[in-house]
Amino acid sequence: MKPIIEVMDLTMSYGEHQVLNSINVAINKSEVVVIIGPSGSGKSTLLRCLNGLEKPQYGEVIIDGQSLMDSSVNISSVRANIGMVFQQFNLFPHMNVLENIMLAQEQVRKRSKESSQAKALDLLQKVGLTDKAEQSPTALSGGQAQRVAIARALAMDPAIMLFDEPTSALDPEMVGEVLAVMKDLAREGMTMVVVTHEMGFAREIGDRVLFMEQGIIIEEGAPQQLFDQPQQERTRDFLSKVL
Ligand code: ADP
Ligand code: MG
Repeated sequence: MKPIIEVMDLTMSYGEHQVLNSINVAINKSEVVVIIGPSGSGKSTLLRCLNGLEKPQYGEVIIDGQSLMDSSVNISSVRANIGMVFQQFNLFPHMNVLENIMLAQEQVRKRSKESSQAKALDLLQKVGLTDKAEQSPTALSGGQAQRVAIARALAMDPAIMLFDEPTSALDPEMVGEVLAVMKDLAREGMTMVVVTHEMGFAREIGDRVLFMEQGIIIEEGAPQQLFDQPQQERTRDFLSKVL
């Protein structure tokens, strides 16, 4: 089977500062890959490269056979198949919850109002927020807002979901409800790349864990292997601080 995401020799700098240093990774359909590593190691930059939000100076990102570096490839249409969820939910405050989940369906997918609404309601049920449909996002807790943000991303029927520290801005008691939605998605076979500090989630749901430091994938492996028998000194050192 051909990987749905292929990253080859990806190298990226901001000015003199090299942030990604020849990253190579291939991710199969339905795989859940968790990226861990210290702050500033390039995790967010790598995620942004995966959906074409950054222009790396060297290397290649191929999504479902289409290279993001190929000027004949329509990046917007590739990106429409990749959902992204950030630490900050970025919901539109002047629209209600339902409208937030309908907007891109109508504008990007060109769906009718009726089918967008039906889909939005289905997804609200999936994330356990049917009763919040008419509310303003500003009235939601952080955990609820993040679940709406996930529903909004799923409304596009993405083939891939990228999560950049989706629970890092949440109060501790709300982390579980967001991770539960992500676990459901993983079990349904969604291809997911998740940057997180939630090592329990990584261990339980991750098929593979990548440890990044200074723009390099220092080590990767199955969660059990990486957490219990890290091979590299730098991985051991990082894990000793976070576990
Ligand atoms: P992480 O997500 O692992 O914390 P990032 O990918 O956000 O790391 O950042 C990696 C490095 O790149 C950091 O040193 C950061 O300061 C730098 N960086 C990130 N974005 C920019 C930018 N837009 N301009 C300049 N430097 C940046
Ligand atoms: Mg980051």
